[in-house]
Amino acid sequence: MRRWILLFVALALLLPPVPALFDEAKGIVTYVTDGDTITVEGVGVVRLADVDSPELAETGGPEAKEYTRKQLLGKLVFLDLDNITGLDRYGRKVCIVSMVNDDGSVGENFNCMLVDAGHATVEDVKDNEFDPREWWETTGLNTDPIADKKFVGSTESDKYHYPECRWAKKISPNNEIWFSSSDDAKSNGYVPCKVCHPT
Ligand SMILES: [Zn+2]
Repeated sequence: MRRWILLFVALALLLPPVPALFDEAKGIVTYVTDGDTITVEGVGVVRLADVDSPELAETGGPEAKEYTRKQLLGKLVFLDLDNITGLDRYGRKVCIVSMVNDDGSVGENFNCMLVDAGHATVEDVKDNEFDPREWWETTGLNTDPIADKKFVGSTESDKYHYPECRWAKKISPNNEIWFSSSDDAKSNGYVPCKVCHPT
């Protein structure tokens, strides 16, 4: 009889631990596509939420990839998965990636680390659950890197928008120009969008 109890205990220990929160995941980083895109074992392709690294063909792109590779490749990371849209338009999982401390607790926010290291800018995409403003408030790192990014325009037009405007979302990242205020936009020759009425 005692043998059966021992066997039962042994089997229970083999079962994977239940995650603390249903929206959390963790896994080993098996591939780094570029600065802001990685593959996590058991999860799939992950796009770091609300930050944007240069593409590989752009200035700084290879350096951003190298930074992410050095920090994350082969390491265990925690993921906070976006619960609103979940996936971006390329089908990648939108996440905050966090380092894992030596004691197994959640460590530094890698999305922030990438920005603080100069390998990404903050792009606060509003259709996900995350607000990058909170990341720097809670860490005390850096000054607010997005305070001067209130409105966005395109170098191809003369309109400026709230970043969440549907027309703003059509602007190619390469053509984005950011303004800290309406006066800033107007002094650069831009006029308010008639859809989102930025003020
Ligand atoms: Zn607009």
